[in-house]
Amino acid sequence: MSLVQERRGYFGEFGGSFVPPELQEVLDYLEEQFLQYKDDHEFNEEFKFYLKEYVGRANPLTFAARLTERLGGAKIYLKREDLNHTGSHKINNVIGQILLAKRMGAKRVIAETGAGQHGVATATACAMFGMDCTIYMGEEDTRRQALNVFRMELLGAKVVPVSKGQGRLKDAVDEALNDLVQNYKDTFYLLGSAVGPHPYPSIVKHFQSIISEESKMQILEKEGRLPDAVIACVGGGSNAIGAFAHYIDEPGVRLIGVEPEKAATLTKGVPAVLHGFKCLVLLDEEGNPQPTYSIAAGLDYPGIGPEHSYLKVSGRAEYYTVTNEEVLEAFQVLSRTEGIIPALESTHAVAYAMKLAPALSKEQIIIVNLSGRGDKDVEQVFHMLKQP
Ligand SMILES: *Cc1c(COP(=O)(O)O)cnc(C)c1O
Repeated sequence: MSLVQERRGYFGEFGGSFVPPELQEVLDYLEEQFLQYKDDHEFNEEFKFYLKEYVGRANPLTFAARLTERLGGAKIYLKREDLNHTGSHKINNVIGQILLAKRMGAKRVIAETGAGQHGVATATACAMFGMDCTIYMGEEDTRRQALNVFRMELLGAKVVPVSKGQGRLKDAVDEALNDLVQNYKDTFYLLGSAVGPHPYPSIVKHFQSIISEESKMQILEKEGRLPDAVIACVGGGSNAIGAFAHYIDEPGVRLIGVEPEKAATLTKGVPAVLHGFKCLVLLDEEGNPQPTYSIAAGLDYPGIGPEHSYLKVSGRAEYYTVTNEEVLEAFQVLSRTEGIIPALESTHAVAYAMKLAPALSKEQIIIVNLSGRGDKDVEQVFHMLKQP
């Protein structure tokens, strides 16, 4: 990729690792192992094997004919991460990191989860690989996401509610890191998005890059040329960086990330250190991370991956926000025109595509990364539409 990391783990001024020395040692070892295996032929064959046999890849790049016709502009293609086992892109990264954990001799996997989606993906793959699995979750979140807690338990994971601090995602991350420092000899911390201290953002990008590796081949096969734009939603930034990766060096392809209006990290954030790395962060007047809110639980995060922070300030990628109303509208439009109910997170990308496509010509091409399916969100949308 073109983004030369001048300093290890940095993208421009962003990234790095701001952690206590005992954790740094664990991260240094993880980096060494990752660098060894990421280019290892056997490791990559094994990764591809599970992506095919368990996740169901390659997933299609579907031409959205009726949506395209309705909008009357650029051709819209959907990269169908919603068709993966467990219903989103998260499983790509989970499989990759568990294979790395196994090579490193770990018997036990730990992870943090906010809304529960990364916890469920991790518990799923741990069951399949026979790994012991512990998921840290803010106590408040365990109550709001009781069904996901039950899913993880069904899959054999132990869910630990964290009541320290505010009982939210940040506190769960701290507990998971404590666990890692104490048990690093047999434990692997499986991080769920393109965030955190180095080397996690690079690891997550590596495994999620399968999205654009496939979409690039698929669009060349279908259209004989590259797309004019790739659009993805951004929470921590993992599906977007995976959807962008193989186009970063193609200057003719616009890279567009879409955020919720009330979690506009890239649109309104300033450089700061959050959760052990430097990125754009939404701060309040006192300089503390601002509480964010999104109707899509997976986008509710005040920070953003370091590479997106760099893509933003360097001008290579563009980031926009959409409103809840636009998201609710797009959720219904995609369902009706294409027979696909999208995750509310992914719907942010669809909503922006609906604004962009009519402004482009009929010869132009947009790829929308459909990061997940919307079954999990149907009840919430029901309450928003039917009982406002
Ligand atoms: C978790 C999630 C996201 C947000 O996470 P990123 O790391 O930004 O990709 C987006 N879409 C879906 C379906 C998710 O489950």
